[in-house]
Amino acid sequence: MAEKFDVIVVGAGMAGNAAAYTLAKAGVNVLQIERGEYAGSKNVQGGILYAQAVEALIPEFRESAPLERHIIEQRIWVLNDKSYIGTHFRSDNFNEERPNRYTLVRAQFDKWLNGEVKKAGATVITETTVLELLKDETGKVNGVRCDRENGEVRADCVILCDGVNALVGSRSGVRKEINSKEVALAVKEMHFLPRDVINERFNIQESEGVVIEILGTVTEGMLGTGFIYTNGESLSVGIGVIVSDLMKNRINPSTLLEKMKSHPSVAPLLKGSEVKEYSAHLLPEGGYDSVPELSGNGWMVCGDSAHLLNAIHREGSNMALTSGRLAAETYLELRDKGQPINAENLKKYNQKLENSFVLKDLKKYRRMPHIMLENKQFVTMYPDLLAGAAETLLRVDGVDKKTKEKKITKDFRSARGIFGLVGDAFKLVRAWR
Ligand SMILES: Cc1cc2nc3c(=O)[nH]c(=O)nc-3n(C[C@H](O)[C@H](O)[C@H](O)COP(=O)(O)OP(=O)(O)OC[C@H]3O[C@@H](n4cnc5c(N)ncnc54)[C@H](O)[C@@H]3O)c2cc1C
Repeated sequence: MAEKFDVIVVGAGMAGNAAAYTLAKAGVNVLQIERGEYAGSKNVQGGILYAQAVEALIPEFRESAPLERHIIEQRIWVLNDKSYIGTHFRSDNFNEERPNRYTLVRAQFDKWLNGEVKKAGATVITETTVLELLKDETGKVNGVRCDRENGEVRADCVILCDGVNALVGSRSGVRKEINSKEVALAVKEMHFLPRDVINERFNIQESEGVVIEILGTVTEGMLGTGFIYTNGESLSVGIGVIVSDLMKNRINPSTLLEKMKSHPSVAPLLKGSEVKEYSAHLLPEGGYDSVPELSGNGWMVCGDSAHLLNAIHREGSNMALTSGRLAAETYLELRDKGQPINAENLKKYNQKLENSFVLKDLKKYRRMPHIMLENKQFVTMYPDLLAGAAETLLRVDGVDKKTKEKKITKDFRSARGIFGLVGDAFKLVRAWR
């Protein structure tokens, strides 16, 4: 591996594939290095794919990409031990010609997208781990060192898309190590069921899909969420919890997954399914305040490695695809203008992210991770209070409605106090703005 390339892209996940594809299509001599046996072999996602971010790369992707179902209904369930209270939004408008959201299986999708990267002309090597960045005498990054004999490769620019652990950047001193309060550990199972059983259980037809996001006591007071997503002939079922909470409580996330699966509202959806795959993966959930330096002298960082994930809306794949594309476009602009690939010029990448939904959305929810970490009543007390209120109101038992409302108000006040309730509402509104 003595050759010199224009750009090296580390990783063949969403971000790495978007960067390598954009560069290769523009005729750049790009090398993509992936540690897995093939692109996608190490990747885990629930997962929902947002079409806009793929369309920006490959407008006709629907013709060949492996997509499971297009999503027509989203449910949010707040669980307590016996019940859930929630919202559904379902619309026939989502049965459009070019659907907006799909479920997918990452191993298949990443392999397909990486095939497009190769067709565009990139050199892709797999089963090779990048260990660190190489620098010249001025400190400019000019290549990478891999775990191969003679494993040094040189390039004018390195784009780091190595996922949430971000080991290449931290080992090379361009970012700090990740912190257990900033990352969630998710476990996921694939539950196989015949297509018509899924359609019947979720009230859908043909390739329509439903996603369910789950909050509440199922995480045993820790900060996290669960999910159930319909694929063609399987369900993705998982739960993720902030690592510092798991460590403090000494709980294994698979225990929480078992608890969620046996919940009376969840178990009937999974009944009779065959579990074929189990995986675990970290998610960067620290939000805007955890985003590291995004570029420097000869390097840029994208996707999970740059902590670009919106945990509130469960958007990570679109941020990874978009940031990978924007990093590549930054390089192309500098190349076309004949400008040097240095720290000053690569700041244009930071600017592009600032102007896009990626950093705008993370900035909007900047306070949310801190508020949720410090106010566990949102995942412990409120699910029970809300379920209790709904049950009180819905049970027809001869008690008049005014008395019922008084009971609900009393339950809320005695659980949290009037100042606590007002304070919590204020915190939520502040975090949401
Ligand atoms: C359980 C779960 C559910 C999720 N659900 C959703 C969802 O529904 N919707 C959504 O949009 N997002 C979801 N996400 C988030 C989404 O998966 C990520 O945000 C997205 O995959 C980030 O892409 P990436 O390319 O930055 O990182 P990754 O996809 O992790 O890719 C990184 C790649 O780099 C490779 N690599 C790592 N280190 C090295 C190295 N040193 N050398 C060479 N290669 C290396 C890895 O093998 C991998 O292929 C979910 C994540 C999880 C874990």
